[in-house]
Amino acid sequence: MSLIIPVRYARRAVQLAFSLYLLYAGYRFYRYYLWVSGQSNVYAPKFPSVEAFLPIGALTALKHLVLTGQFDAIHPAGLAIFIAVLLAAFLFRKGVCGWVCPVGLISNLFEGLGRRFGLSFCLKGWPSIPLYSLKYILLSFFLYIILFRMDGQSIAAFMSSPYNMLVDIKMLLFFIKPSLTTVVFLVVITSLSIILRNPWCRYLCPYGALLGVMALFSPIHVKRDETLCINCKRCTKICPACIEVHKKTAVRTPECQGCMECIGVCPVKNCLGLNTLLGIKPSPLGVAALTITLIFGAWILASVTGHWESAIRPEMLRNLFLLTGGHVMHP
Ligand code: SF4
Ligand code: SF4
Ligand code: SF4
Repeated sequence: MSLIIPVRYARRAVQLAFSLYLLYAGYRFYRYYLWVSGQSNVYAPKFPSVEAFLPIGALTALKHLVLTGQFDAIHPAGLAIFIAVLLAAFLFRKGVCGWVCPVGLISNLFEGLGRRFGLSFCLKGWPSIPLYSLKYILLSFFLYIILFRMDGQSIAAFMSSPYNMLVDIKMLLFFIKPSLTTVVFLVVITSLSIILRNPWCRYLCPYGALLGVMALFSPIHVKRDETLCINCKRCTKICPACIEVHKKTAVRTPECQGCMECIGVCPVKNCLGLNTLLGIKPSPLGVAALTITLIFGAWILASVTGHWESAIRPEMLRNLFLLTGGHVMHP
């Protein structure tokens, strides 16, 4: 029996579950923000999971961890999630993009809308190369600044700065009080997502680019058996990353989002599947489950070892916010 139903439905269910959880985390964080900013006197504890949206700060904290052996005490959940996500990409490819990331889900939903009206198309060949390179340019910029320009002293200064302490609230304000530029950008990118397949993920997201680089070293990849293939091209048509799966024997590109949709849609048994360096052929749902388990495992490990909740007292953050009005500058 084709895997189309299990893969498609399982993926959407997992994406939806993570998105709903993060929506709830966002709501809880909003209540925390109301208390921190003095708009409410009812204390609401912060939901540390929102720190998943601070990958640049987490990269800085990772460098700090490597240099000093000290785990970030201000946004520890962000660092714990970041390490788990990198590890997941290294071991199981970009399953976090394909199964977990809520932005990926939104992008996929607009892609689906475009497909329904026959509008979703893939830009191929030379014109797409400059677009693909955009996210790697952005990633290179962040890596250059954090890994090469910031020494241990400036990393430590950044991490203990008021800006870093309130950076999660600044992120929230970015979403709930967007500037005109942000609104215009969001309207353009979401409209574009209906006609051009997943432009944010494929061309612009530096986080996805980083996961793609990690996935290059992954022992797992999608493999096609040419002798069984009937060239129906269903795998290529369904691919959210516009990879021409029907032409490849092995999909090793960093663009693969690890969604497993191509495997699910292939009508020929054993024609398309996952392969490993050792020749073991894991099931697509099993690999997705391992990715999710790794993320949950990081949460449990960070919680029991005291690396999940911030060490900064909420009252101190409230005082800092009330004192500065939240206008803290990057050091
Ligand atoms: S490319 Fe970026 S936005 Fe898209 S799914 Fe991956 S991490 Fe999320
Ligand atoms: S190649 Fe397959 S697993 Fe990779 S993004 Fe395309 S459909 Fe998903
Ligand atoms: S869906 Fe399967 S049979 Fe069809 S082209 Fe792709 S690999 Fe070949």
